[in-house]
Amino acid sequence: MSDYNWCHGPECHEQQTQSRVRGSGDNKVLRTIKIKQGSEWIRQSVFSHFCNQRCLMDYLKLHKDSIVTIAPRREALETPIKVEKTKSQEYRMRYNGENYERIPYQATRTIIKSVDNNDG
Ligand SMILES: [Zn+2]
Repeated sequence: MSDYNWCHGPECHEQQTQSRVRGSGDNKVLRTIKIKQGSEWIRQSVFSHFCNQRCLMDYLKLHKDSIVTIAPRREALETPIKVEKTKSQEYRMRYNGENYERIPYQATRTIIKSVDNNDG
């Protein structure tokens, strides 16, 4: 296994940064970024193949139709939940021309809770 990957961004070699300039004299080029695979973090990361967010998104935009055929989603997935609503007394402030006064109101808070799938 090589210790680097070339960035897969389709336009990586067109971005005008100093880090991409190679060659000498009148033979200079912008070259695709070489990504060193020097750490476990980089090898596990999506950025082992992309030098930055733009190159990643350019690649996804260009190849999205091919990528989704690898693991297509043809129907929605669902996660069982419980929804709890709690009411509480809250206050907002209102300026009456001289002072601020506390105006009470009933707030409703919605909490989404996970359900243990083994309980059915
Ligand atoms: Zn790149």
